[in-house]
Amino acid sequence: MNKPASVPEQFDAVVVGAGFSGLYMLYRLRQLGLSVRVLESAGDVGGTWYWNRYPGARCDIPTTDYTYSFDPELEKEWTWSEKYATQPEILEYLRFAADRLGLRPDIEFSATVTSSRWDEPEKRWTITTDGGQEIRCRYYIMATGCLSMPKSPDIEGAGRFAGQVYFTSRWPHEGADFTGQRVAVIGTGSSGIQSIPLIARQASQLTVFQRTPNFSIPAHNGPAPADRLDRLAEDRDEYRDAARWSRGGVPIDPTDILGGTASEAVRRERFEAAWAQGELFGILNVFADQGVNPASNDIVAEMIREKIRSIVTDPETAEALCPKDHYFGTKRPCLDTGYFETYNLPHVQLVDLRKQPIVSITEEGIETADESFGFDAIVYATGFDAMTGALVGVDVAGRDGLSLKEKWVAGPSTYLGLMTTGFPNFFMLTGPGSPSVLSNMTVSIEQHVDWVAGCLENMRDEGLETIEPTALAESGWNQHVQDCAAITLHPTANSWYMGANVPGKPRFFLPYIGGVNAYRQACDEVASQGYLGFRLTGPGQDQCRDGIIRRMQPDVAMVLEFMAAAGLPPLETLSAADARALLAATAEASPPGPEVGEVTDGLIPVPSGDLPYRLYRPAGPPEGPRPLVVYFHGGGWVLGNLDSDDPLCRDLCARSGAVVVSVNYRHAPEVRFPAAALDAFAAVQWADANAIELGAIPGQLAVAGWSAGANVAAVACQLARDAEGPHISGQLLICPVVDSDMTRPSYTENGAGYILTTALMRWFWDYYADPADRGDPRAAPLRGNLEGLPEACIVTADFDPLRDEGIAYARALEAAGVPARLVRARGHTHTSVTMVGVVISGAPVRAEIGEALGDFFPAP
Ligand SMILES: Cc1cc2nc3c(=O)[nH]c(=O)nc-3n(C[C@H](O)[C@H](O)[C@H](O)COP(=O)(O)OP(=O)(O)OC[C@H]3O[C@@H](n4cnc5c(N)ncnc54)[C@H](O)[C@@H]3O)c2cc1C
Repeated sequence: MNKPASVPEQFDAVVVGAGFSGLYMLYRLRQLGLSVRVLESAGDVGGTWYWNRYPGARCDIPTTDYTYSFDPELEKEWTWSEKYATQPEILEYLRFAADRLGLRPDIEFSATVTSSRWDEPEKRWTITTDGGQEIRCRYYIMATGCLSMPKSPDIEGAGRFAGQVYFTSRWPHEGADFTGQRVAVIGTGSSGIQSIPLIARQASQLTVFQRTPNFSIPAHNGPAPADRLDRLAEDRDEYRDAARWSRGGVPIDPTDILGGTASEAVRRERFEAAWAQGELFGILNVFADQGVNPASNDIVAEMIREKIRSIVTDPETAEALCPKDHYFGTKRPCLDTGYFETYNLPHVQLVDLRKQPIVSITEEGIETADESFGFDAIVYATGFDAMTGALVGVDVAGRDGLSLKEKWVAGPSTYLGLMTTGFPNFFMLTGPGSPSVLSNMTVSIEQHVDWVAGCLENMRDEGLETIEPTALAESGWNQHVQDCAAITLHPTANSWYMGANVPGKPRFFLPYIGGVNAYRQACDEVASQGYLGFRLTGPGQDQCRDGIIRRMQPDVAMVLEFMAAAGLPPLETLSAADARALLAATAEASPPGPEVGEVTDGLIPVPSGDLPYRLYRPAGPPEGPRPLVVYFHGGGWVLGNLDSDDPLCRDLCARSGAVVVSVNYRHAPEVRFPAAALDAFAAVQWADANAIELGAIPGQLAVAGWSAGANVAAVACQLARDAEGPHISGQLLICPVVDSDMTRPSYTENGAGYILTTALMRWFWDYYADPADRGDPRAAPLRGNLEGLPEACIVTADFDPLRDEGIAYARALEAAGVPARLVRARGHTHTSVTMVGVVISGAPVRAEIGEALGDFFPAP
């Protein structure tokens, strides 16, 4: 134990853990002039690299990048020997860093923190170790690691085996010699995949027990990659900065090639290049959409399976090694050296536990449903209680005795993965809700440590004593973390990212998948906005700027960024003709929307002439007539046509099971108010009268529309009521224009930056209606008589200038006795819900819309 001569009981800060995070945290806190004690269970520094000494243990990020970058001098003094360094070398590096920075005197080894308690009056934590020692501190920082709490094997009879037992995560310091032994390895995650080839070299017989096959690619270890070394030599700072602002913490060139549209030759070329390169973020970057699009993911997954089949000679073993139960990348892919080749050795056998599960561990070995195996040694490579295990492994009691374990019983809840409400001055490095295990962790660790150090520095300068996130900020961040995961394929996998490897652990996507760059941006913004979402107190001070740092759906934000980068002119600066041409080009480039059974175009004869329409009939049974929805496109009465809303109409048709007739009404400025509304009503009358010809059930007719199309749909309902027909069963109004009053708060909040702007809305109104007409209920249906109207489903979007009038319409309908279902598209803009095939997060909203449409009609 490396105890300093005198151990003061009071410190400014206690840091738990002396791995990459704890060491750098100590260094930064010392720079701030704080007194610090680091408590570490292990007998030395190193964390992960102290404990995981199994044969073959290596990093899976090139060491050019898996290294501290905060001190150029430190970097100069250390040269990594290989592309992927071994555990002994990484441990040696961390020892070197601790010595070089003089950190050891503040670290107490062989000291495990067992409990901690927040003392509100004193505004201090009391930390207790397994040795019974108590330490008091103001700041309590958990650098306890994401993969540091081994998962105990949940196998019947695990304690009974009389031979030697090894855990990859707690490997003996003296090593293990398997020469001439019959060895079992249980588990084929990263540690299993790394150790199996080396254990096979010694063992006389090796049996691998596999529950889930994992994707692995060859590491092609060797000298550090020349391209990375060159870039570092050329401009180290630029390289490190590129890592900090990359998605995964390693500089790569993100591709924009999509799996579905790439040619077979391009697919093969990209995949083979990534396979040959042997880098994690390379194989995750074969296609831009492989993480979100199942079809694109399948292309990569199948190519890896082909490789496995080409390496492993026994077809049955090869098939058992091919992962088929999860999308590629939804579990961290492994990098290996000769893993699949190992199964071609005559003394190596694979037991597929899906076919013959383990019944029990016995004194002599392992009994499966089909066989009894005798062994001299069993190696458990069974993984970790990831991300939360080490945190809730300590009995942490926050304000009013709130237990962290209890607070997180349904899943962890954090603000930025850094702090959690109810636990003042309690920081987590790479905690749940931060990029951590999805990234190059050294980059994520440095970012967290720097943020915490900056925060404490600010508190010191401002004379503040406590910091704690607000409930609103925390729930907003939790939501954002889940929103980011929901648009990817990740939540579909039974992975440790989801807590699925630990029985009873809540299924919850633990890390933040929005990217190291996006995450850093959010953290920086929180700090620069006066620590948005945190309450800070000090003598005579209580400051809180409450709020949510990210409310927008992540894919909506991406679309906005993409459009901003495209530099398109604001529509309102164009002529109507040019704006229409721009919109037509956009529609042309959009994904087509889902397949439906039948699409036919036709003309509706109305008093003013013929209106083009397009009919969508759902695929599949029932063959007979269906309910009918008459749909009106968006575009501010000026823009839009049958093509612009074609993907949405297909989607509505497929989801609702109704026949959809999309109508192209006359546009302004050529024909102004009330032409569009009158056309809409005429089209509804025609559709009702021709229901049988349209393949629809007479009398089962609803109207729908988006934006200005929702305006004319709503007006058509009022005109139909006044004319006592036709009967309309329901009105679906997606982000409707229902009033000409542009002073509601949503116009102020969302008037710029979200595609539909206040300026554009004004442009639309100016083209459509004279100011004197804008209060007419046929232009502003909110101002009309709302009694006796069809039931409604109204969709509003958070970032839409029209949000508040949509809400007002729903309330006014309810007040008039008309049932109105309000669907709030959280984190969406005026346009994003309708961007079928582009904005993935719009799909659940459209599912709700489809259901609402179906509910307008009697059950079939
Ligand atoms: C085999 C393996 C390979 C990996 N390879 C990579 C890689 O290539 N790239 C990558 O980015 N990441 C990798 N990781 C993740 C790795 O954990 C991180 O990169 C990094 O080492 C984490 O550093 P840390 O200091 O945050 O946590 P750790 O290194 O886990 O250190 C945490 C320390 O806290 C101590 N501790 C925990 N609880 C207590 C307590 N209650 N009291 C006292 N001490 C406590 C532990 O003993 C441990 O020493 C790997 C992980 C494993 C297991």
